[in-house]
Amino acid sequence: MPITPGHTRRTNRRLAVVSLVVVAGLSAHTVASALPARVMVAVGGQQPMEGLTASPIVDGNDVAATPSLTVPSPLTIGGAPLTTAPPSHARPRPYVEAQTHVTIAARDAPRLTVPILNYHYILDVPPDPHNMLLYNLSISPRLFAEQMEVLHVEHATPITMSMLMDALAGKRALPSHPVVLTFDDGYVDFATSAQPILAKYGFVATEYVVSGFMDHSGYMTTAQVRQMDTAGMVIGSHTMHHVDLASTSLAAARAEIVGGKVAMEQTLHHPVRDFAYPYGEFNAAVEGMVSEAGFRDAVITKAGQSHALADAFEFHRTHIGGAPSLATFAQEAGLTPLTPAQPDQISNDPAVRPSPSASGAADATTGRAQPGKQARQAVRSS
Ligand SMILES: [Zn+2]
Repeated sequence: MPITPGHTRRTNRRLAVVSLVVVAGLSAHTVASALPARVMVAVGGQQPMEGLTASPIVDGNDVAATPSLTVPSPLTIGGAPLTTAPPSHARPRPYVEAQTHVTIAARDAPRLTVPILNYHYILDVPPDPHNMLLYNLSISPRLFAEQMEVLHVEHATPITMSMLMDALAGKRALPSHPVVLTFDDGYVDFATSAQPILAKYGFVATEYVVSGFMDHSGYMTTAQVRQMDTAGMVIGSHTMHHVDLASTSLAAARAEIVGGKVAMEQTLHHPVRDFAYPYGEFNAAVEGMVSEAGFRDAVITKAGQSHALADAFEFHRTHIGGAPSLATFAQEAGLTPLTPAQPDQISNDPAVRPSPSASGAADATTGRAQPGKQARQAVRSS
């Protein structure tokens, strides 16, 4: 489709992003296929992962064999505050108020297709054959910004798990192209890299925080978590110590579930209703305890985008990591596949050209197959 003088600026902008997607797609890829069948991240245990030097791949036996059951002291503010104040327009736009509420009988509650995207690190991490897990759990800040630009230009609307639950219950309508942005573990780059980009677009995201890891190196401080909450982000719970709830005793699992909720509510002074199972591991007993603790919903790490109200405590998510092409990302985000642009339509605007980081990372491993859903499901990383 040629660009004509009659095109609006918005159309040109869309074409520019489409071009960006196509160019990135030519060389980009994802490398989850290189992952081991089952891997775990060293975010459990009494010592959280320290920075980026620690190997994130550990044996399951290393994970929190004897978790502390002590609930963190309330109202303790640790660490330094953010050095960069969030933009004045940090609070997400008031899309909640703008939505048309509809009433549908419960028996007619729909099954909805809503991508729930699952991020971990927003960091520049070069592909390292000895540590591909960290690479696959990371998205560079530049690529993350491009992904959010794609959502913006394609009129996708990030929503909260609360909004998804209400829609599944037939209590509200959702905007076009709804998508849930979730981040696991409470890493510091959520506050320093992700949220400023989200704020630029007025996007809301949900961060599942491990309460016992706050104020540790590599994780958000208590003050930063509060700042994210104030900025309009949704803070969920990811237990106290990132314990595999399906492998520990029922008493320990309950303490982790309840203790994490209490700690986050004491930190934020309001209810915390969203939960994520560490490593995506759960069973019926664990699921029941999460519900009994007062959570409204919970997410897992299996891939899937079709949800019903019956899935309230096992919502599937789509892993986002490595260096997926923007075309792949757009599909993962539930957007209609973008129309390929002609070479002469590719924008010369540096702001919308593929980033060196994204294309370079892609070039480094060109030729690897696109990961399949099963490969994504094997990422035991949350
Ligand atoms: Zn996790």
